[in-house]
Amino acid sequence: METRDRFPLLRKVLKAIGLPDEAIDDIVERILDWLSTKEQPPGTPTELPFKLRDDFLSNAEISFCQVLRSVVGDRAVVCPKVNLGDLFFVATGDHRKNRGLANRVDRKHVDFLLCDPNTMRPVLGIELDDKSHDRADRQARDQLVEGVFKAAGLSLVRFAVKSGYAPADIESQVTSHFGRQAPVMSSAGTPVIPVVVPSDSTPGCPKCGSKMILRTAKSGANAGGQFWGCANFPRCRSVLPVK
Ligand SMILES: [Zn+2]
Repeated sequence: METRDRFPLLRKVLKAIGLPDEAIDDIVERILDWLSTKEQPPGTPTELPFKLRDDFLSNAEISFCQVLRSVVGDRAVVCPKVNLGDLFFVATGDHRKNRGLANRVDRKHVDFLLCDPNTMRPVLGIELDDKSHDRADRQARDQLVEGVFKAAGLSLVRFAVKSGYAPADIESQVTSHFGRQAPVMSSAGTPVIPVVVPSDSTPGCPKCGSKMILRTAKSGANAGGQFWGCANFPRCRSVLPVK
């Protein structure tokens, strides 16, 4: 039975309280996941009937990926199909709100991500738009993804699916992003100038706005010394010196 056909009554209730189809699918899938693990008595060997998918990338994605790789060469690593949950995190200071927003990007991915070859720091997201991007639900998804990239200060470019790509077109849109990193922004959207913070007042993280935690360096030249580290570590690695 398809997930779409399960729990019709629950679906109606969730629809009635105004949840979008996408959120309802997510809830039903989570319930099914939970039920399937409950059915398994502890200690029973689990059957894992997995098969390798033949459609990891579509033909259009493969041909674009090949041109993209030849254009960027060793200036960037091309990662296809990157989950947005691995790329971004939510920092609102409100746990429930964080989870709600994180669920909206969970299971969504960007078609390609270019990373710095030395640090693997994300440099640019690339979306390949086929005809499905004209559909209303796709447009809502595209808007959300674009908003998330913009909020996090990571650039995103779009290419239309074609039968062939001119390397020069890709070069001109993509390479201007190399060597440029997202500036560290305060929650107000202004670039942050690092300041020395006295140890008796807890600063907010200059990157994500979360509270910072007074930590002691365990190793390195500064071992034993104190510094402010973001409460969201390791998702956010912001640090501030302590006076
Ligand atoms: Zn932070």
